[in-house]
Amino acid sequence: MSLNIWFDGNIGSAESLTAPLTTHALHYGTGVFEGIRSYATRAGAAVFRLPEHLERMRQGADALGMQMDVAAASEATVAVLRSNQHRDAYVRPLFWLGVGSLGLDVAPLSRHLMVASMPWASHLGASSVSVAVSPMRRNRAEAMPPLKLCGAYVNSILAKREAGGRGFGEAMFVDDSGFVVECTGENVFLVRSGKITAVQHPDALPGITRATLIEMTGAESRPVTLEELLDADEVFLTGTSAEVTAVSALEQRSFAPGPVTAALRAQYLQIVRGESPQYAHWLTEV
Ligand code: PMP
Repeated sequence: MSLNIWFDGNIGSAESLTAPLTTHALHYGTGVFEGIRSYATRAGAAVFRLPEHLERMRQGADALGMQMDVAAASEATVAVLRSNQHRDAYVRPLFWLGVGSLGLDVAPLSRHLMVASMPWASHLGASSVSVAVSPMRRNRAEAMPPLKLCGAYVNSILAKREAGGRGFGEAMFVDDSGFVVECTGENVFLVRSGKITAVQHPDALPGITRATLIEMTGAESRPVTLEELLDADEVFLTGTSAEVTAVSALEQRSFAPGPVTAALRAQYLQIVRGESPQYAHWLTEV
């Protein structure tokens, strides 16, 4: 069955919707996107932390000088999920600079918003993943704000390719001083003697799953070196798509399946599926 996409106010089939080849975002990565999930709950489909995702997207749009209509994006998200009759799905809104010029002054360009939904399991594909320490550096916040700007993801894709070429499932960025930044699409946590710590770094995306885990657990958020991570009992990654995924290996260091990660993963999956009443406010019913 063909997927429906919401595009500038209308819903149509994915094949029928196109953008011109002179689209600015195609040439320069001048757009902002989100990765959002909806889940099947007892009350039907529900989107997890939709306002928080759209607020982060609005900040990215702001950085590009684009004014985003958050209410319209929110309605479009619900509309496309209904139209596709999706329950467990990945939702991808994209707001981008269109046509008018291929110059670097973006003021005269058209703006476009699309929202797609698609059935999608975790992008890491399993409950654990092997992680390489990338020889590449993360985009610095001073060079590009750590938001979901399209072009910024070339950095992630190159690091993931390098890690994949060495047989690892994911890549982790470390900075010049040896501090852990994040993975290509996830934030990093560690567990040591039962204590949970969220890796904090100015160049990392402020993850919504990360904030969720901190609220669930009261985890401390602070800078962490790679050395400290290698010495942890458990390491796990968080992300909308990855949810809570255990790290099975970090380069040569392997980790046995950890009880804390397993319990947090189970608790997270209960929350997103609407089975924890105290967190029901994080769900937007479709
Ligand atoms: N870091 C990066 C670079 C990401 O792309 C993502 C996925 N959005 C995350 C971290 C995790 O963020 P979130 O929990 O909001 O999905």
